[in-house]
Amino acid sequence: MSVKLILLGPPGSGKGTQGALLGKFYGIPEISTGDMLRQAVAEGSELGKRVQGILTKGQLVPDDVMVSLVEERVSREDCAQGFILDGFPRTVDQARALERVLPGGIDAVVYLRVPREEVIARLAGRLTCRRCGAVYAKTDSSLCQVCGGDLYQRDDDLRSTVEHRLRVYEEHTAPLVGYYRTLDKVREFDGSGPVEEVARRVEAGIARVIA
Ligand code: AMP
Repeated sequence: MSVKLILLGPPGSGKGTQGALLGKFYGIPEISTGDMLRQAVAEGSELGKRVQGILTKGQLVPDDVMVSLVEERVSREDCAQGFILDGFPRTVDQARALERVLPGGIDAVVYLRVPREEVIARLAGRLTCRRCGAVYAKTDSSLCQVCGGDLYQRDDDLRSTVEHRLRVYEEHTAPLVGYYRTLDKVREFDGSGPVEEVARRVEAGIARVIA
Protein backbone atom coordinates (compact mmCIF):
# COMPACT_ATOMS: atom_id res chain seq x y z
CA MET A 1 0.00 0.00 0.00
CA SER A 2 1.23 3.48 -0.74
CA VAL A 3 -0.01 6.67 0.90
CA LYS A 4 0.67 10.05 -0.65
CA LEU A 5 -0.60 13.01 1.33
CA ILE A 6 -0.28 16.78 1.20
CA LEU A 7 -0.63 18.98 4.26
CA LEU A 8 -2.29 22.31 3.66
CA GLY A 9 -3.00 25.17 6.04
CA PRO A 10 -1.51 28.49 7.08
CA PRO A 11 1.92 28.68 8.71
CA GLY A 12 1.42 27.70 12.34
CA SER A 13 -1.60 25.47 11.70
CA GLY A 14 0.30 22.41 12.95
CA LYS A 15 1.31 20.85 9.62
CA GLY A 16 4.77 19.86 10.86
CA THR A 17 3.50 18.37 14.12
CA GLN A 18 0.58 16.51 12.54
CA GLY A 19 2.72 15.44 9.58
CA ALA A 20 5.32 13.88 11.87
CA LEU A 21 2.59 11.93 13.72
CA LEU A 22 0.93 10.78 10.49
CA GLY A 23 4.33 9.79 9.11
CA LYS A 24 4.97 7.60 12.14
CA PHE A 25 1.46 6.16 11.92
CA TYR A 26 1.90 5.07 8.29
CA GLY A 27 5.66 4.44 8.45
CA ILE A 28 6.40 6.91 5.65
CA PRO A 29 8.61 10.02 5.58
CA GLU A 30 7.26 13.46 6.36
CA ILE A 31 8.95 15.83 3.93
CA SER A 32 9.10 19.45 5.02
CA THR A 33 10.40 21.72 2.28
CA GLY A 34 10.95 24.46 4.89
CA ASP A 35 13.22 22.08 6.88
CA MET A 36 15.09 21.14 3.69
CA LEU A 37 15.70 24.80 2.86
CA ARG A 38 16.73 25.71 6.43
CA GLN A 39 19.17 22.81 6.40
CA ALA A 40 20.65 24.04 3.10
CA VAL A 41 21.09 27.50 4.68
CA ALA A 42 22.75 25.98 7.77
CA GLU A 43 25.14 23.97 5.58
CA GLY A 44 25.97 27.04 3.46
CA SER A 45 25.36 25.10 0.22
CA GLU A 46 24.75 26.83 -3.13
CA LEU A 47 21.02 26.36 -2.64
CA GLY A 48 21.29 27.71 0.91
CA LYS A 49 23.06 30.87 -0.23
CA ARG A 50 20.45 31.40 -2.92
CA VAL A 51 17.43 31.09 -0.60
CA GLN A 52 18.68 32.55 2.69
CA GLY A 53 17.38 36.10 2.13
CA ILE A 54 14.07 34.82 0.76
CA LEU A 55 13.44 32.73 3.90
CA THR A 56 14.33 35.53 6.29
CA LYS A 57 11.83 37.84 4.58
CA GLY A 58 9.10 35.18 4.51
CA GLN A 59 8.88 35.26 0.70
CA LEU A 60 8.52 32.26 -1.60
CA VAL A 61 11.44 30.44 -3.22
CA PRO A 62 10.93 30.27 -7.04
CA ASP A 63 8.72 27.40 -8.25
CA ASP A 64 11.37 25.80 -10.50
CA VAL A 65 13.83 25.50 -7.58
CA MET A 66 11.18 23.93 -5.36
CA VAL A 67 9.88 21.53 -7.99
CA SER A 68 13.33 20.06 -8.71
CA LEU A 69 14.05 19.79 -4.99
CA VAL A 70 10.82 17.85 -4.34
CA GLU A 71 11.08 15.77 -7.52
CA GLU A 72 14.50 14.52 -6.41
CA ARG A 73 13.33 13.91 -2.82
CA VAL A 74 10.22 11.85 -3.66
CA SER A 75 12.19 9.68 -6.08
CA ARG A 76 14.33 8.32 -3.23
CA GLU A 77 13.98 4.78 -1.96
CA ASP A 78 12.35 5.75 1.37
CA CYS A 79 9.35 7.17 -0.52
CA ALA A 80 8.48 3.86 -2.20
CA GLN A 81 5.53 3.35 0.20
CA GLY A 82 4.47 6.98 0.01
CA PHE A 83 5.18 10.26 1.78
CA ILE A 84 3.63 13.29 3.40
CA LEU A 85 4.45 16.70 1.95
CA ASP A 86 4.56 19.62 4.39
CA GLY A 87 5.00 23.03 2.77
CA PHE A 88 4.75 21.88 -0.84
CA PRO A 89 2.95 22.65 -3.09
CA ARG A 90 2.58 26.30 -2.08
CA THR A 91 1.34 27.70 -5.38
CA VAL A 92 -1.06 26.38 -8.01
CA ASP A 93 1.87 26.14 -10.45
CA GLN A 94 3.74 23.88 -7.98
CA ALA A 95 0.61 21.71 -7.68
CA ARG A 96 0.41 21.35 -11.46
CA ALA A 97 4.11 20.47 -11.61
CA LEU A 98 3.60 17.85 -8.90
CA GLU A 99 0.95 16.17 -11.02
CA ARG A 100 3.44 15.90 -13.87
CA VAL A 101 6.06 14.43 -11.54
CA LEU A 102 3.66 11.96 -9.86
CA PRO A 103 1.68 10.15 -12.54
CA GLY A 104 -0.78 8.51 -10.09
CA GLY A 105 -1.34 11.80 -8.25
CA ILE A 106 -1.79 12.15 -4.51
CA ASP A 107 -4.39 10.39 -2.34
CA ALA A 108 -5.63 13.28 -0.23
CA VAL A 109 -4.99 16.78 1.03
CA VAL A 110 -5.12 17.21 4.82
CA TYR A 111 -6.36 20.76 5.24
CA LEU A 112 -5.90 22.14 8.77
CA ARG A 113 -8.11 25.10 9.62
CA VAL A 114 -7.01 27.38 12.48
CA PRO A 115 -8.31 30.92 13.19
CA ARG A 116 -5.92 33.70 12.08
CA GLU A 117 -5.48 35.13 15.61
CA GLU A 118 -4.51 31.72 16.99
CA VAL A 119 -1.99 31.22 14.18
CA ILE A 120 -0.33 34.58 14.90
CA ALA A 121 -0.14 33.84 18.62
CA ARG A 122 1.29 30.35 17.98
CA LEU A 123 3.98 31.51 15.53
CA ALA A 124 5.11 34.60 17.40
CA GLY A 125 5.54 32.43 20.51
CA ARG A 126 7.12 29.34 19.03
CA LEU A 127 10.62 27.94 19.42
CA THR A 128 12.21 25.46 17.03
CA CYS A 129 14.96 22.90 17.68
CA ARG A 130 18.10 23.84 15.75
CA ARG A 131 19.02 20.17 15.34
CA CYS A 132 15.80 18.19 14.64
CA GLY A 133 13.21 20.88 13.83
CA ALA A 134 10.72 19.96 16.60
CA VAL A 135 8.60 22.95 17.68
CA TYR A 136 7.59 24.16 21.16
CA ALA A 137 5.56 26.92 22.79
CA LYS A 138 7.83 29.70 24.05
CA THR A 139 7.36 28.95 27.75
CA ASP A 140 8.93 25.48 27.52
CA SER A 141 12.58 24.72 28.40
CA SER A 142 15.45 25.88 26.18
CA LEU A 143 16.43 22.33 25.20
CA CYS A 144 14.64 19.99 22.80
CA GLN A 145 12.85 17.13 24.54
CA VAL A 146 13.33 14.90 21.49
CA CYS A 147 17.07 15.25 20.81
CA GLY A 148 18.50 17.65 23.42
CA GLY A 149 19.33 20.29 20.75
CA ASP A 150 19.11 24.08 21.32
CA LEU A 151 15.75 25.78 20.84
CA TYR A 152 15.67 29.12 18.98
CA GLN A 153 13.17 31.51 17.46
CA ARG A 154 13.19 31.29 13.64
CA ASP A 155 13.89 34.68 11.98
CA ASP A 156 10.67 34.27 10.06
CA ASP A 157 8.68 33.69 13.27
CA LEU A 158 9.22 37.32 14.37
CA ARG A 159 5.87 39.09 14.54
CA SER A 160 6.42 41.45 11.57
CA THR A 161 7.44 38.56 9.30
CA VAL A 162 4.61 36.33 10.54
CA GLU A 163 1.99 38.80 9.26
CA HIS A 164 3.79 38.94 5.93
CA ARG A 165 3.93 35.12 5.68
CA LEU A 166 0.20 34.98 6.35
CA ARG A 167 -0.44 37.45 3.52
CA VAL A 168 1.77 35.35 1.22
CA TYR A 169 -0.20 32.27 2.31
CA GLU A 170 -3.55 33.90 1.63
CA GLU A 171 -2.49 35.18 -1.78
CA HIS A 172 -0.52 32.21 -3.17
CA THR A 173 -1.31 29.08 -1.15
CA ALA A 174 -4.93 29.38 0.01
CA PRO A 175 -6.14 29.09 -3.64
CA LEU A 176 -4.81 25.52 -3.54
CA VAL A 177 -7.77 24.54 -1.35
CA GLY A 178 -10.11 25.35 -4.24
CA TYR A 179 -7.77 23.71 -6.73
CA TYR A 180 -7.75 20.40 -4.83
CA ARG A 181 -11.48 20.65 -4.06
CA THR A 182 -12.23 20.48 -7.75
CA LEU A 183 -10.20 17.24 -7.78
CA ASP A 184 -12.19 16.05 -4.72
CA LYS A 185 -9.01 15.54 -2.70
CA VAL A 186 -9.55 17.87 0.25
CA ARG A 187 -10.24 16.51 3.75
CA GLU A 188 -10.82 19.40 6.10
CA PHE A 189 -9.99 19.30 9.84
CA ASP A 190 -10.33 21.66 12.78
CA GLY A 191 -6.66 22.27 13.66
CA SER A 192 -7.26 24.06 16.96
CA GLY A 193 -7.09 22.33 20.35
CA PRO A 194 -4.64 19.79 21.80
CA VAL A 195 -2.21 18.07 19.40
CA GLU A 196 -3.43 14.55 20.29
CA GLU A 197 -7.06 15.46 19.68
CA VAL A 198 -6.29 16.93 16.23
CA ALA A 199 -4.18 13.85 15.42
CA ARG A 200 -7.07 11.51 16.28
CA ARG A 201 -9.43 13.47 14.04
CA VAL A 202 -6.94 13.46 11.16
CA GLU A 203 -6.02 9.77 11.45
CA ALA A 204 -9.68 8.73 11.52
CA GLY A 205 -10.51 10.97 8.54
CA ILE A 206 -7.59 9.78 6.45
CA ALA A 207 -8.12 6.09 7.27
CA ARG A 208 -11.49 6.40 5.49
CA VAL A 209 -9.80 7.74 2.35
CA ILE A 210 -6.97 5.21 2.26
CA ALA A 211 -9.04 2.12 3.05
P1 AMP B 1 7.86 26.51 6.29
O1 AMP B 1 8.79 25.85 7.24
O2 AMP B 1 7.02 25.55 5.50
O3 AMP B 1 7.04 27.60 6.94
O4 AMP B 1 8.77 27.24 5.18
C1 AMP B 1 9.67 28.26 5.54
C2 AMP B 1 10.03 29.11 4.33
O5 AMP B 1 10.64 28.28 3.32
C3 AMP B 1 8.85 29.75 3.61
O6 AMP B 1 8.43 30.96 4.23
C4 AMP B 1 9.42 29.97 2.22
O7 AMP B 1 10.32 31.06 2.21
C5 AMP B 1 10.25 28.71 2.01
N1 AMP B 1 9.48 27.61 1.39
C6 AMP B 1 9.19 26.38 1.92
N2 AMP B 1 8.49 25.61 1.07
C7 AMP B 1 8.31 26.37 -0.06
C8 AMP B 1 7.65 26.16 -1.30
N3 AMP B 1 7.00 25.00 -1.57
N4 AMP B 1 7.68 27.16 -2.22
C9 AMP B 1 8.31 28.31 -1.97
N5 AMP B 1 8.95 28.60 -0.82
C10 AMP B 1 8.96 27.64 0.14
